[in-house]
Amino acid sequence: MAELYLELVTPEKVLVSQKVDIVVAPGSLGEFGVLPGHVPFLSGIVPGELRFTADGKTEYFAVTTGFAEVSGNKISVLVDAAERATDIDIERARQAMERARERLAKERGRADIDLDRAQAALQRAIARIRVAEKVRSI
Ligand code: ATP
Repeated sequence: MAELYLELVTPEKVLVSQKVDIVVAPGSLGEFGVLPGHVPFLSGIVPGELRFTADGKTEYFAVTTGFAEVSGNKISVLVDAAERATDIDIERARQAMERARERLAKERGRADIDLDRAQAALQRAIARIRVAEKVRSI
């Protein structure tokens, strides 16, 4: 029977490296799922929720920006940052969201790199808050 291994990696560490039954990830064209036997596939990853199920248990992560590659029996997800849902500091994410919103409100109408950075920071913070709140409510 086909198997599937997930590697979730950031420049800092390897968060996951194990056999899984299914992975669902936030692709740049929308959420996608990968099962064993999936055809080779490449996708951008955007800030959001990545989850996988193994042995009947689902684990949740917040991921930021990067890409995913499905090749052979492996899915590799490489992102700038990722946190296990239970490791997310929700207060820190709320403060990051607030800072980003203030920056965007103040600089509205201007088009520069700082605005892009604030927008990206906002997306990261929203993803972290959503994932953290979701697992708290499960
Ligand atoms: P902040 O402004 O709070 O640092 P950020 O979006 O700029 O947020 P990143 O640059 O994406 O942070 O991440 C830097 C490091 O901090 C990474 O290792 C990331 O996993 C971790 N990190 C960021 N925010 C949180 C959080 N709310 N809870 C736990 N770890 C976090």
